Amino acid sequence: MARKNIYFTAGPAELYPKFENFLQEAIDEQLGSISHRSQRFRDIYKFTDEQLRILMNIPEGSAILFTGSASEVWERILLNIVQSDSFHLVNGSFSEKFYKYAKSLNRNAHIQEKPLGEGFNLDEINVPASAELICTTHNETSTGVMTSTDTIHALKKVNPDKFVAVDMVSSAPYPILDYSFVDTAFFSVQKAFGLPAGLGVWIANQKCLDKANLLKKSQNIGGHHDLPTLWKNYEKFETPATPNTLLIYLLGKVAEDMNKKGIEQIRKETDEKASKLYDFIAKNDQFSIAVEKVSHRSKTVLVADCQKPSAEIIAHLKKKNIILGAGYGPKKDSQIRISNFPANSMEQVEILIEELGKI
Ligand SMILES: *Cc1c(COP(=O)(O)O)cnc(C)c1O
Repeated sequence: MARKNIYFTAGPAELYPKFENFLQEAIDEQLGSISHRSQRFRDIYKFTDEQLRILMNIPEGSAILFTGSASEVWERILLNIVQSDSFHLVNGSFSEKFYKYAKSLNRNAHIQEKPLGEGFNLDEINVPASAELICTTHNETSTGVMTSTDTIHALKKVNPDKFVAVDMVSSAPYPILDYSFVDTAFFSVQKAFGLPAGLGVWIANQKCLDKANLLKKSQNIGGHHDLPTLWKNYEKFETPATPNTLLIYLLGKVAEDMNKKGIEQIRKETDEKASKLYDFIAKNDQFSIAVEKVSHRSKTVLVADCQKPSAEIIAHLKKKNIILGAGYGPKKDSQIRISNFPANSMEQVEILIEELGKI
């Protein structure tokens, strides 16, 4: 068999190092065949719920719900929490898609936009008075720009009557969210959790449920898995429809393994690998850091401007079994994107730096 590739792509991404062991356990336990109305399934859901709570400091009153993907959660949030007005901080393709979902659901969607590669500072954000929900993207995967958790929390402090949603798809479990200032957050498993795609995770508090129950009296909050239905099933550690039991199990095992290491250590290693990569990019004359402002630079998806066409760099690294991402949208040819997830080890980062140095 050919040498294995090392994936530095932003999702699907490098698989978690113990993925194969966990998968084998799932096969040995025949989890593909168990009923989702069985005690075994409820135990799996409960275990994953407990491990995620520990890892991400999710409070008791919030539910942890499963969907098909993170983008599905965009729609669930808009349908269940917004009667008419949403507000979107947009600085790249993913935050823009959240906004476009709101438009297509006929919400009165307000937008504040930044050029690609720039982030938001609190003092420049103007939340419209009519907005019921503020939509933030902690890590804009398309541009490698992070919004600080302080900024996100402050939005809630200044707007206590509004809901705050956090797309943490390509950074969770890295950001330290304080759930007293965040009503709902979500991610999917094919990014920093190092699993195959096919599961979205939706964290929502009691206020979200209350709002959904209120809206349900006067408008359509969705035919597929509305929040009250998901929540009612969650109380029994069940799901309304047949869920992705395999990925729910694997997510619990990865979260447990991360907890054994400790989230502080994972954050420390993430910071160290990011510093090493950014130092290299800054010093090498073929590359430069795409995000100008240091405080806006992502720790989990790093973006570099390249002198040479990105396709040439990507093709060169592919020969060395290293898989990199191109820039997103208009930056496709002039940028590379490098994931820095827990599954990407320091050894792998060093190999990548060595090969990029030969460009
Ligand atoms: C990947 C990504 C999504 C979409 O996730 P899916 O699981 O593909 O639906 C949403 N937001 C961000 C920031 C992402 O990186």
